[in-house]
Amino acid sequence: LSKIGVLTSGGDAPGMNAAVRAVVRKCVYENIKVTGIIKGYQGLVNGDFLPLNAGSVSGILKDGGTMLKSARCPEFRTPEGRATAYENFKKQKLDGLVVIGGDGTFTGANIFGREYNIPIIGVPGTIDNDLFGTDLTIGYDTALNTVVDAVDKIRDTATAHSRLFFIEVMGRDAGFIALNAGVASGAEVVLLPEKKTSYDDLKRFLEKQYSYSKDSSIVLVAEGKKMGNTFEIAQRVNEEHPEYDARVTILGHLQRGGSPTVADRVLASELGVAAVEALIDDQKSIMVGMVDGEIVHVPFNQALKNKKGINERLFNLINVLSGGKK
Ligand code: ATP
Repeated sequence: LSKIGVLTSGGDAPGMNAAVRAVVRKCVYENIKVTGIIKGYQGLVNGDFLPLNAGSVSGILKDGGTMLKSARCPEFRTPEGRATAYENFKKQKLDGLVVIGGDGTFTGANIFGREYNIPIIGVPGTIDNDLFGTDLTIGYDTALNTVVDAVDKIRDTATAHSRLFFIEVMGRDAGFIALNAGVASGAEVVLLPEKKTSYDDLKRFLEKQYSYSKDSSIVLVAEGKKMGNTFEIAQRVNEEHPEYDARVTILGHLQRGGSPTVADRVLASELGVAAVEALIDDQKSIMVGMVDGEIVHVPFNQALKNKKGINERLFNLINVLSGGKK
């Protein structure tokens, strides 16, 4: 192995920089040349490369975003686009790739790697935590902390006015952020894509809260929930129960930003190094992950085919901890 490329792709996540740094420093340590690829697969298609050395990644460990930039790249979904990417890969004399991103990024890597027999290792970087085969993904812990900080602030104003807040968080089709942030911020109800909570269930939960005159209620809503548009849910609740004085806050992209937490920095450092080690060991088409504190290698096919379930125990806690009797 004499030269590899590294890229960040798909939705950005805090800790991607820490992972890039770990890949680069491990390469330097092993005397392997490394080049950054700008804007994910788009840089591979466009031939946009940035040679990296130990100094190029100084000071980025603590930064949110990604110094390599990220993008969605429609051309990479086509055989022609990937052929151009392969030409550039060869021109750069690369022997392998480390791709940092989510399931879309790994889908692309899986196809490209098999098409041209290229060793590619995936590093799970997404705030959604929706990748099978790793307990946690890079960026998830930071996003959780950001959400909890925001919910704490909304709780102050909700309590001052005795209001009900619907707070929508990211996570696409996964409820990990909503559930874990819900427990950590004392949300009274969580609405998750994994659960078929009906409007009547929601009403019952809220009526239970109000029956013992709660000062405020927070419903943490995962963006992929089954019940429909968050504003419409709140409006319906307001029509039926004007006394709840329901409001909506969509947290949005602030969840993607910020300096990574210690947990994300450590995870990114470990997985970045593990990805280069996997390439040195002639591995291909796998994701490196962390399960029970151990590094694991998960074939892309497996990581992509399976769905990580939510923690039912935590889900049941929400109802117990929101107060009131069974
Ligand atoms: P996040 O989970 O944070 O959204 P992601 O990695 O899933 O991140 P996507 O936009 O879904 O983000 O995927 C990133 C890129 O991977 C796409 O823009 C595209 O270039 C490539 N990609 C995704 N799916 C495919 C596919 N079926 N074939 C080829 N390339 C793909």
